[in-house]
Amino acid sequence: MHIAGMVKTTLLDFPGRLSAVLFTAGCRYDCFYCHNRPILQLQDNSDGAAAPIDQGALRRFLEKRAGLLEGIVVSGGEPALQEDIGEFFGYLKSLGYETKLDTNGSRPQVIQSLLRDNLVDYTAVDVKAPWHRYQEICGEQADWEAVSASLDILASASVSWEARTTVCPTLSELDLHEIAQQLPPGVHWRWNAYKKPAVFRKRDAWRIHADAPSPGTLCRWAATAARSTSAVIDYQYG
Ligand code: SF4
Repeated sequence: MHIAGMVKTTLLDFPGRLSAVLFTAGCRYDCFYCHNRPILQLQDNSDGAAAPIDQGALRRFLEKRAGLLEGIVVSGGEPALQEDIGEFFGYLKSLGYETKLDTNGSRPQVIQSLLRDNLVDYTAVDVKAPWHRYQEICGEQADWEAVSASLDILASASVSWEARTTVCPTLSELDLHEIAQQLPPGVHWRWNAYKKPAVFRKRDAWRIHADAPSPGTLCRWAATAARSTSAVIDYQYG
């Protein structure tokens, strides 16, 4: 696993669990508002790529905190791109951790295999846009059909999971209604408030700085959306 960053303790990222978060390097998406741009490249020696955390130090940390931390969140970048993700989740389980996967949903077969082997306890999958706007918002490599397949897999699984949408500039109330139609019935749907990233491409400046809905607007949109979807909407501003 190429782990490029870590939060050692959090109560916010894994519902009901005191956890650490590991950020894997590499992602094939290119969301214009990405906050993890410095870790999007996989190669250690690429310009701008973050150096990996030393594996030995990481394992010592995980083994020392076993029994103290309840969960480990594996986030990214896109963790499902890592070749040894199954082995790594198996290692986390062997230490007694509950595991959470944060994914953009681009590799449904990896989600399926982690679920089949009982290696993941909670999954958060991004549903970033209406399908017809996926590549506009997430870059040319974004594949909405893969995300849709990931939703289907999770909808028929017995583990807890949620869908997440960052309500970024240019995403309208109508777009959110369309996303609602893409989700399986009754899903827990988390709306994350937009925060401007520190690093972004020049050509995206217009949409980085464009207005995103205020907390009051988001609250109204959520109330309206709740009338037409069976999803349970939860939104956070922090
Ligand atoms: S999927 Fe996540 S890590 Fe990848 S570009 Fe989008 S926001 Fe960044």
